[in-house]
Amino acid sequence: MFDRASVVTPGGVNSPVRAFRAVGGTPRFMVSGTGPYLTDADGREYVDLVCSWGPMILGHSHPEVIAAVQEAVARGTSFGTPGEGEVALAEEIVARIEPVEQVRLVSSGTEATMSAIRLARGFTGRAKVVKFAGCYHGHVDALLAAAGSGLATFGLPDTPGVTGATAGDTVVLPYNDLDAVRAAFAAHPGEIACVITEASPGNMGVVPPADGFNAGLKELCAADGALYISDEVMTGFRTSKAGWYGVDGVRPDLMTFGKVMGGGFPAAAFGGRADVMAHLAPAGPVYQAGTLSGNPVATAAGLAQLRLLDDAAYAKIDAVSAELRTLVGDALTKEGVAHTVSSASNMFSVFFTGQPVRNYEDAKQQEAFRFTAFFHAMLEQGVYLPPSAFESWFVSTAHDERAIERVAAALPAAARAASEATA
Ligand code: PLP
Repeated sequence: MFDRASVVTPGGVNSPVRAFRAVGGTPRFMVSGTGPYLTDADGREYVDLVCSWGPMILGHSHPEVIAAVQEAVARGTSFGTPGEGEVALAEEIVARIEPVEQVRLVSSGTEATMSAIRLARGFTGRAKVVKFAGCYHGHVDALLAAAGSGLATFGLPDTPGVTGATAGDTVVLPYNDLDAVRAAFAAHPGEIACVITEASPGNMGVVPPADGFNAGLKELCAADGALYISDEVMTGFRTSKAGWYGVDGVRPDLMTFGKVMGGGFPAAAFGGRADVMAHLAPAGPVYQAGTLSGNPVATAAGLAQLRLLDDAAYAKIDAVSAELRTLVGDALTKEGVAHTVSSASNMFSVFFTGQPVRNYEDAKQQEAFRFTAFFHAMLEQGVYLPPSAFESWFVSTAHDERAIERVAAALPAAARAASEATA
């Protein structure tokens, strides 16, 4: 299948990390998923610790989500008009996340961050955007400038196809460094439209914000008249009922969502202060649109999933995560592998370094070759981990004792492989 795919699709995949380039080997083609398990085209079953990179927080094929989808599909798949499902989903988001007074639905996290930035620029009349190295906000041109980053350095495009002009308005700073943000505001007073940050980063591995970091960002933005945008595409509706906002309580001006809120379908959103959202077309002049925005099948799936995510569900996910973190840490310690299990609520990842990881530079110091050996040993034993040392692991309410035992049984050999690995 990979050979077939490679003929008709660049690199054989529709999103680069799926290609296993960071760990080598041939990507598995999955054909079905049930609860915590995925089954590949060769009939092999895996405990899934990726959960579609976050969305499948109730596990695969949850009967109530599937039923809601089937019911919606039977009524028609897209109307291109307003519909009740999108209103109900927006109401659910507004009810859960207090700073979100109004919300606009889109189809991907990338669209959400791209639109939030356009809105911030339109609202403030300013051009510059501050982002942090190691934070991923989708493949928005202006946000693919994550390179280098001295203090207040203008971003250089990370990829051909993004022009210097586009990246030139992006200021890339080291994560967890408020002094760098202070210096950027001092260097560009009245020019910065917004600071965008992952609410708690999961795209350089899991690197939570230091105490007071998000609050400091909010304060610096408010003092200069810039907007504070919290990207909760990954953390939203996962790290608590109200996402990371429910954990640190720092009130953003705008927020972005995706993944969990779509129930496995393409649905995402951005929202926040009503006076800012009022600048969005057709209420205001900042244009934003989408043929499939608020799609009735996607909104039905998302709503069904969110309605099942009560306090008990989060308690379960947190407990599964805590148990796995302990198991992984113990197995690596037993084999003498230097590591740090880093977590933010129930999101976690393993850095193969004994040093603390506070930003992207720290994360890159890890011995990623040990992860490669660890990953393949787990895969061989039927545990599907994210195929990169710089990604969060995800668990679901469906990860029961049997699934956890299967992970536990695979860990000793994987820890040994990590210990024996050479660069
Ligand atoms: N923002 C964050 C924090 C993400 O983790 C991602 C995707 O992983 C995105 C934005 C982009 O979302 P999408 O892949 O739906 O475009």
